[in-house]
Amino acid sequence: MIKAVIFDMDGLMVDTEPLYSKAMSQVAEKRGKCFTLDIKQKVMGRLAIESLTIFKETLGLTESARELLEEREEIYGHLLSEGVTPMPGLFKLLDLLDKMEIRKAVASSSKKCWIELIMDKLRVCNQFEIIISGQDVKHGKPNPDIYLLAATKLNLNPGECLVLEDAISGVQAAKAAKMKCIAVPNQFTQGLDFPEADLIVNSLEEIDEELLNKLSLT
Ligand SMILES: [Mg+2]
Repeated sequence: MIKAVIFDMDGLMVDTEPLYSKAMSQVAEKRGKCFTLDIKQKVMGRLAIESLTIFKETLGLTESARELLEEREEIYGHLLSEGVTPMPGLFKLLDLLDKMEIRKAVASSSKKCWIELIMDKLRVCNQFEIIISGQDVKHGKPNPDIYLLAATKLNLNPGECLVLEDAISGVQAAKAAKMKCIAVPNQFTQGLDFPEADLIVNSLEEIDEELLNKLSLT
């Protein structure tokens, strides 16, 4: 029985992955390097500092991950201020979950201030009972901690939670937490295998009442 849906945010609720890519590309290009899709897929969904550590090591950069992160955050902040785009089907799905009396939470690796800014821009702040940020856990996705913390705060068993994720690391975190998980790949994760996911859909628009009821029974 699914009693709550826990949403990832970046690339799942909101189309911020192109903005992260743009910011990371600028940091790489400044050093004569290229931020490839391969690196993008490796860092997606992870805590910021972990992403920048992978980025630094893969590109062989000399600065600390912390310095690179500060540079990335400044560019990302500017890009965010220009506006954010919700992923197709988000608002309809939120309405459906209300109708079905399924609770809603967010568990994002992003920083609290970015989450608040984005949720505010999308005007969905009061739609979610619980919001967990990357700053609330020590280990980021694919570690299950962020999803387990969400379940604890919802006072639910992991088996009663359904996670929606766009990234491999996020799907792995949800399954390590023993939750149900639907993968919703975006432009950067399309074509990747999500072997752990219970289901893969093309967009949030495909998640309807019938599908949720079916998943509740498995
Ligand atoms: Mg994501």
